[in-house]
Amino acid sequence: MSQPNILHNFKSKNFDSRKYKIQFIVLHYTETKNLEEAIDLLTSKKRKVSCHFVVDTDGQIYNLVSESKRAWHAGESSWKGLQDMNSRSIGIEMVNPGEKKLKNYPKAQINQLINLIHFLEEKFNIPFYNILGHSDIAPHRKIDPGKHFPWKELHKNKIGLWVEINQIKYRGLSAKEYDEFLQNLYGIGYQLPKHKNLKINNFMIIDAFHRHFLPIQVGKKPNSISLIKSKKLLKLNKT
Ligand SMILES: [Zn+2]
Repeated sequence: MSQPNILHNFKSKNFDSRKYKIQFIVLHYTETKNLEEAIDLLTSKKRKVSCHFVVDTDGQIYNLVSESKRAWHAGESSWKGLQDMNSRSIGIEMVNPGEKKLKNYPKAQINQLINLIHFLEEKFNIPFYNILGHSDIAPHRKIDPGKHFPWKELHKNKIGLWVEINQIKYRGLSAKEYDEFLQNLYGIGYQLPKHKNLKINNFMIIDAFHRHFLPIQVGKKPNSISLIKSKKLLKLNKT
Protein backbone atom coordinates (compact mmCIF):
# COMPACT_ATOMS: atom_id res chain seq x y z
CA MET A 1 0.00 0.00 0.00
CA SER A 2 1.36 3.36 -0.95
CA GLN A 3 0.93 6.27 1.41
CA PRO A 4 -1.65 8.62 -0.12
CA ASN A 5 -0.47 12.07 -1.13
CA ILE A 6 -2.60 14.46 0.94
CA LEU A 7 -2.53 18.24 0.47
CA HIS A 8 -3.43 20.77 3.17
CA ASN A 9 -4.08 23.88 1.03
CA PHE A 10 -7.64 24.37 2.28
CA LYS A 11 -9.01 24.12 5.82
CA SER A 12 -12.57 24.23 7.15
CA LYS A 13 -13.61 25.53 10.55
CA ASN A 14 -16.92 23.69 10.39
CA PHE A 15 -16.31 21.08 13.09
CA ASP A 16 -16.57 20.43 16.83
CA SER A 17 -15.51 17.66 19.24
CA ARG A 18 -16.16 13.96 18.71
CA LYS A 19 -18.30 12.21 21.29
CA TYR A 20 -17.47 8.68 20.13
CA LYS A 21 -14.61 6.64 18.74
CA ILE A 22 -14.11 6.46 14.94
CA GLN A 23 -15.76 3.30 13.60
CA PHE A 24 -17.06 4.25 10.15
CA ILE A 25 -16.14 5.96 6.88
CA VAL A 26 -18.97 7.77 5.08
CA LEU A 27 -18.72 8.48 1.34
CA HIS A 28 -20.31 11.49 -0.35
CA TYR A 29 -20.34 13.40 -3.58
CA THR A 30 -20.04 17.18 -3.62
CA GLU A 31 -22.72 17.82 -6.27
CA THR A 32 -20.52 20.57 -7.67
CA LYS A 33 -18.99 21.29 -11.05
CA ASN A 34 -15.44 21.26 -9.74
CA LEU A 35 -13.06 21.33 -6.75
CA GLU A 36 -13.22 25.12 -6.31
CA GLU A 37 -16.99 25.07 -5.85
CA ALA A 38 -16.68 22.12 -3.47
CA ILE A 39 -14.07 23.88 -1.32
CA ASP A 40 -16.19 27.07 -1.21
CA LEU A 41 -19.14 25.04 0.06
CA LEU A 42 -17.21 22.93 2.57
CA THR A 43 -15.46 25.92 4.12
CA SER A 44 -18.41 28.33 4.07
CA LYS A 45 -19.20 29.89 7.44
CA LYS A 46 -22.86 30.19 6.44
CA ARG A 47 -23.46 26.63 5.26
CA LYS A 48 -21.91 24.93 8.31
CA VAL A 49 -20.93 21.80 6.38
CA SER A 50 -17.54 20.17 5.99
CA CYS A 51 -15.80 16.81 5.70
CA HIS A 52 -12.40 15.38 6.53
CA PHE A 53 -11.19 14.66 2.99
CA VAL A 54 -12.04 15.74 -0.54
CA VAL A 55 -10.93 13.64 -3.51
CA ASP A 56 -10.78 15.64 -6.75
CA THR A 57 -11.63 14.09 -10.13
CA ASP A 58 -7.90 13.73 -10.91
CA GLY A 59 -7.38 11.78 -7.67
CA GLN A 60 -5.72 14.56 -5.65
CA ILE A 61 -6.68 14.31 -1.97
CA TYR A 62 -7.18 17.35 0.28
CA ASN A 63 -7.55 17.30 4.07
CA LEU A 64 -10.00 19.93 5.34
CA VAL A 65 -10.59 18.88 8.95
CA SER A 66 -8.37 16.89 11.34
CA GLU A 67 -9.54 13.27 11.72
CA SER A 68 -9.63 13.80 15.49
CA LYS A 69 -12.45 16.35 15.07
CA ARG A 70 -16.15 15.91 14.35
CA ALA A 71 -16.64 17.28 10.82
CA TRP A 72 -20.20 18.15 9.80
CA HIS A 73 -20.82 15.89 6.82
CA ALA A 74 -23.53 13.37 7.72
CA GLY A 75 -26.24 15.44 9.45
CA GLU A 76 -29.15 13.56 10.98
CA SER A 77 -28.24 9.94 10.37
CA SER A 78 -28.14 6.45 11.83
CA TRP A 79 -26.93 2.92 11.18
CA LYS A 80 -27.68 -0.24 13.14
CA GLY A 81 -29.42 1.86 15.74
CA LEU A 82 -26.41 4.14 16.27
CA GLN A 83 -27.05 7.88 16.09
CA ASP A 84 -24.71 10.87 15.60
CA MET A 85 -22.74 9.32 12.77
CA ASN A 86 -20.66 12.52 12.54
CA SER A 87 -19.13 11.63 15.90
CA ARG A 88 -18.37 8.09 14.78
CA SER A 89 -17.07 8.54 11.25
CA ILE A 90 -14.62 10.05 8.82
CA GLY A 91 -16.33 11.84 5.94
CA ILE A 92 -14.90 11.72 2.43
CA GLU A 93 -16.35 13.87 -0.36
CA MET A 94 -15.72 13.06 -4.01
CA VAL A 95 -15.94 15.89 -6.51
CA ASN A 96 -18.84 14.84 -8.74
CA PRO A 97 -21.80 16.78 -10.19
CA GLY A 98 -24.35 14.30 -8.81
CA GLU A 99 -26.38 11.28 -9.82
CA LYS A 100 -28.68 13.09 -12.24
CA LYS A 101 -25.75 14.34 -14.35
CA LEU A 102 -24.87 10.72 -15.20
CA LYS A 103 -21.18 11.38 -14.83
CA ASN A 104 -19.05 8.35 -14.04
CA TYR A 105 -16.38 8.54 -11.40
CA PRO A 106 -12.98 8.75 -13.15
CA LYS A 107 -10.60 5.85 -12.58
CA ALA A 108 -7.89 8.09 -11.09
CA GLN A 109 -10.36 9.39 -8.50
CA ILE A 110 -11.54 5.91 -7.49
CA ASN A 111 -7.98 4.57 -7.30
CA GLN A 112 -6.93 7.34 -4.92
CA LEU A 113 -10.13 6.95 -2.91
CA ILE A 114 -9.30 3.25 -2.44
CA ASN A 115 -5.79 4.20 -1.41
CA LEU A 116 -7.08 6.72 1.13
CA ILE A 117 -9.65 4.29 2.58
CA HIS A 118 -7.02 1.56 3.00
CA PHE A 119 -4.82 4.06 4.82
CA LEU A 120 -7.67 5.12 7.15
CA GLU A 121 -8.90 1.56 7.74
CA GLU A 122 -5.47 0.60 8.97
CA LYS A 123 -4.91 3.78 10.99
CA PHE A 124 -8.24 3.61 12.85
CA ASN A 125 -8.93 -0.13 12.65
CA ILE A 126 -12.17 0.31 10.67
CA PRO A 127 -13.79 -2.93 9.43
CA PHE A 128 -14.57 -3.23 5.69
CA TYR A 129 -18.34 -3.42 6.28
CA ASN A 130 -18.36 -0.05 8.05
CA ILE A 131 -17.60 1.88 4.87
CA LEU A 132 -20.98 3.28 3.85
CA GLY A 133 -22.64 5.82 1.61
CA HIS A 134 -24.40 8.92 2.91
CA SER A 135 -27.62 7.50 1.44
CA ASP A 136 -27.22 4.38 3.58
CA ILE A 137 -27.22 6.34 6.84
CA ALA A 138 -29.63 9.13 5.82
CA PRO A 139 -31.98 7.43 3.33
CA HIS A 140 -34.78 9.90 4.01
CA ARG A 141 -32.68 12.89 2.90
CA LYS A 142 -29.69 11.87 0.79
CA ILE A 143 -28.86 9.93 -2.37
CA ASP A 144 -25.06 10.40 -2.52
CA PRO A 145 -22.65 8.92 -3.56
CA GLY A 146 -25.36 7.91 -6.08
CA LYS A 147 -26.19 4.89 -8.18
CA HIS A 148 -23.14 5.34 -10.42
CA PHE A 149 -20.72 4.90 -7.55
CA PRO A 150 -18.68 1.70 -8.15
CA TRP A 151 -19.31 -0.25 -4.93
CA LYS A 152 -18.47 -3.47 -6.78
CA GLU A 153 -15.03 -2.12 -7.70
CA LEU A 154 -14.40 -1.07 -4.09
CA HIS A 155 -15.45 -4.47 -2.83
CA LYS A 156 -12.84 -6.09 -5.09
CA ASN A 157 -10.39 -4.09 -2.99
CA LYS A 158 -11.98 -5.37 0.24
CA ILE A 159 -13.85 -2.13 0.93
CA GLY A 160 -17.53 -1.83 1.79
CA LEU A 161 -20.49 -4.15 1.46
CA TRP A 162 -21.38 -5.84 -1.82
CA VAL A 163 -22.81 -9.15 -2.97
CA GLU A 164 -22.53 -10.67 -6.39
CA ILE A 165 -25.12 -13.17 -7.57
CA ASN A 166 -25.30 -14.97 -10.91
CA GLN A 167 -29.06 -15.09 -11.13
CA ILE A 168 -30.59 -13.17 -14.05
CA LYS A 169 -34.21 -14.33 -13.82
CA TYR A 170 -36.37 -12.54 -11.30
CA ARG A 171 -39.96 -12.18 -10.21
CA GLY A 172 -42.02 -9.97 -7.92
CA LEU A 173 -42.23 -10.65 -4.19
CA SER A 174 -45.17 -12.09 -2.30
CA ALA A 175 -46.49 -10.05 0.64
CA LYS A 176 -44.64 -12.36 3.03
CA GLU A 177 -41.37 -12.05 1.11
CA TYR A 178 -41.78 -8.28 0.98
CA ASP A 179 -42.00 -8.20 4.79
CA GLU A 180 -39.00 -10.48 5.07
CA PHE A 181 -37.06 -8.19 2.72
CA LEU A 182 -37.89 -5.13 4.85
CA GLN A 183 -36.84 -6.93 8.03
CA ASN A 184 -33.56 -7.82 6.32
CA LEU A 185 -32.93 -4.15 5.51
CA TYR A 186 -33.40 -3.19 9.16
CA GLY A 187 -31.13 -6.10 10.11
CA ILE A 188 -28.42 -4.91 7.71
CA GLY A 189 -28.45 -1.49 9.38
CA TYR A 190 -30.93 0.76 7.56
CA GLN A 191 -32.84 2.95 9.98
CA LEU A 192 -35.22 5.82 9.73
CA PRO A 193 -36.55 8.30 12.22
CA LYS A 194 -40.09 7.39 13.13
CA HIS A 195 -42.48 8.84 10.59
CA LYS A 196 -46.25 8.69 10.57
CA ASN A 197 -46.30 7.24 7.11
CA LEU A 198 -44.49 3.91 7.33
CA LYS A 199 -45.03 3.28 3.63
CA ILE A 200 -43.01 6.37 2.68
CA ASN A 201 -40.31 5.40 5.17
CA ASN A 202 -40.02 1.93 3.73
CA PHE A 203 -39.92 3.20 0.17
CA MET A 204 -36.94 5.40 1.10
CA ILE A 205 -34.88 2.65 2.67
CA ILE A 206 -35.71 0.30 -0.22
CA ASP A 207 -34.43 2.93 -2.65
CA ALA A 208 -31.28 3.47 -0.58
CA PHE A 209 -30.67 -0.29 -0.55
CA HIS A 210 -31.12 -0.52 -4.33
CA ARG A 211 -28.94 2.53 -4.92
CA HIS A 212 -26.07 0.71 -3.19
CA PHE A 213 -26.67 -2.95 -4.07
CA LEU A 214 -28.95 -3.15 -7.13
CA PRO A 215 -28.90 0.24 -8.92
CA ILE A 216 -31.10 -0.96 -11.79
CA GLN A 217 -34.01 -1.15 -9.31
CA VAL A 218 -33.78 2.45 -8.04
CA GLY A 219 -37.28 3.90 -8.05
CA LYS A 220 -38.82 0.45 -8.53
CA LYS A 221 -40.28 -2.25 -6.33
CA PRO A 222 -37.99 -4.88 -4.82
CA ASN A 223 -37.87 -8.21 -6.68
CA SER A 224 -36.54 -11.69 -5.95
CA ILE A 225 -32.94 -10.57 -6.66
CA SER A 226 -33.34 -7.75 -4.09
CA LEU A 227 -34.45 -10.37 -1.57
CA ILE A 228 -31.57 -12.77 -2.29
CA LYS A 229 -29.04 -9.93 -2.02
CA SER A 230 -30.57 -8.76 1.27
CA LYS A 231 -30.29 -12.27 2.74
CA LYS A 232 -26.63 -12.59 1.74
CA LEU A 233 -25.84 -9.11 3.09
CA LEU A 234 -27.47 -9.90 6.38
CA LYS A 235 -25.00 -12.77 6.85
CA LEU A 236 -22.03 -10.70 5.66
CA ASN A 237 -22.78 -7.70 7.84
CA LYS A 238 -22.89 -9.44 11.21
CA THR A 239 -20.91 -7.68 13.88
ZN1 LIG B 1 -23.41 13.60 1.49
